[in-house]
Amino acid sequence: MKTTPLLFLLTSLTICSCATEQNTSGETQAAMEPTVSGPPAVDEDGFVQLSEDEWRQRLTPEQFKVTRQAGTERAFSGIYWDELATGTYECVGCALPLFDSATKYKSGTGWPSFWQPVASNAVKEVDDSSLFTTRTEIVCSRCEAHLGHVFDDGPRPTGLRYCMNSAALNLIEK
Ligand SMILES: [Zn+2]
Repeated sequence: MKTTPLLFLLTSLTICSCATEQNTSGETQAAMEPTVSGPPAVDEDGFVQLSEDEWRQRLTPEQFKVTRQAGTERAFSGIYWDELATGTYECVGCALPLFDSATKYKSGTGWPSFWQPVASNAVKEVDDSSLFTTRTEIVCSRCEAHLGHVFDDGPRPTGLRYCMNSAALNLIEK
């Protein structure tokens, strides 16, 4: 079981270092940085569909693990769990606006938590039967990035807690 994450890491490093050489960037840090930037193309149906390799070129390994492999960052480890700035949280994969800072609240969980998305069609709910319970997974409606889960123990007015991963979000400050 221990070999899988190691292989994944090695594969990522190999892909990233090749890309870095093409960019002729001399910085070691750049090996873990995405090589393609800017929002991806949206198809005629309004969706973003990229191959695994294309996502790897656009995301850091942590962002890839969370959004494309339904990973969960460690509590209190992300960059937004205690973020207080005003702005809009976009999907890290396709830049679709997902949550407004006005609906963010302190949940005490160590993950950025919101009581409502910016629009009901910004996110999609998916039944998640992993971890021996049924939870409701939340994905981006445009690129199907895994964002987190929604629970019904949130504050008023909705009573919902959208428990998100920082790695799936990009805050555009106002
Ligand atoms: Zn997206």
